[in-house]
Amino acid sequence: MVNIAAEVRAANTARKLLVIFIFIAAAVHLCAAGALGAERWKSRATRYSTIYYPFDDVLLEFGAKIGGNPFLKRDLDAAFKSIGEDVDRITLRVETLLDMYPPDLRFSIYIYRTYAEIKYVYREMGFSGDAPIAFYLYRARSIYLSFDGLSDRVLAHEMAHAVINLYYTTAPPAEMQEVLAQYVDKHLWDELTRKVR
Ligand SMILES: [Zn+2]
Repeated sequence: MVNIAAEVRAANTARKLLVIFIFIAAAVHLCAAGALGAERWKSRATRYSTIYYPFDDVLLEFGAKIGGNPFLKRDLDAAFKSIGEDVDRITLRVETLLDMYPPDLRFSIYIYRTYAEIKYVYREMGFSGDAPIAFYLYRARSIYLSFDGLSDRVLAHEMAHAVINLYYTTAPPAEMQEVLAQYVDKHLWDELTRKVR
């Protein structure tokens, strides 16, 4: 005699196990997707910064936008090295213009391709109002910028915010920072009259 009750119980158990299995598989899949999202960025360290970018072409384009000629380099490593040197040169220039030399100057630069992405990131961070074309986030010691409107001056402006914030133990008022950062981007490549350290 077939035990109907036992068969039904077994079928129910199998169904439950299947549901649990599908649930676990979905969870594992989501975790993997999450990890991929987090590891989407590639990075290169320079003396003062770590540059994060999604693809090699993006870093090359960034190098061109800030005044370098990375596309002329014979290989990718040589191009990346020259971009890092350009970024460090601008950082040193910013320090010199501000006459501020924070002992542990280290910050990150996140390169996006479009202003739309910057707007999205800005909103995701909880900021309201018009998103700037680039910005420095104090708590993350990070600069966020995109190709839209990018130049060495825009980068220098945001670096000025990084240098100022890392130089003072208490962050100076936003208006004062803005005046100093604008001074830096306006005079980035001016002939320096005082002694350069
Ligand atoms: Zn500013």
